[in-house]
Amino acid sequence: MSDCLFCRMVAGEIPADVVHETDRVLAFRDINPQAPTHVLVIPKEHHRNLAALAAADAELLAAVARAAGEVARQEGLVSDGGVEPGYRVVTNTGPDAGQSVDHVHLHLVGGRPLGWPPF
Ligand code: IMP
Repeated sequence: MSDCLFCRMVAGEIPADVVHETDRVLAFRDINPQAPTHVLVIPKEHHRNLAALAAADAELLAAVARAAGEVARQEGLVSDGGVEPGYRVVTNTGPDAGQSVDHVHLHLVGGRPLGWPPF
């Protein structure tokens, strides 16, 4: 989609601070970080939200989840056991959740203790 910000980043038309990339997934730093690590993990293909992605391509959904795990490891957010210190993955859907970019993205945040509930 030519009018989608994240599609334009995938196409290289808008710069992205890329931390991880596969043939189908891109992960880059959020321009307005809310934690020491704040990375957005997206499928390169345009899907509006998580449910749309899951309905269209479960394998791509799994690839996005795998990439998030890899970014967490790269960023030092998990030990070899895969737990500590930890991190959070969030995806906003629709206006009530504050979704501002209609291209599904996982927010991967960590690097400090995170409060709960998050709202
Ligand atoms: P949402 O509000 O859940 O849709 O998340 C969209 C995220 O995209 C926000 O956290 C923004 O800070 C981030 N964002 C917007 N434009 C850019 C950009 O050009 N580069 C990196 N992140 C961006």
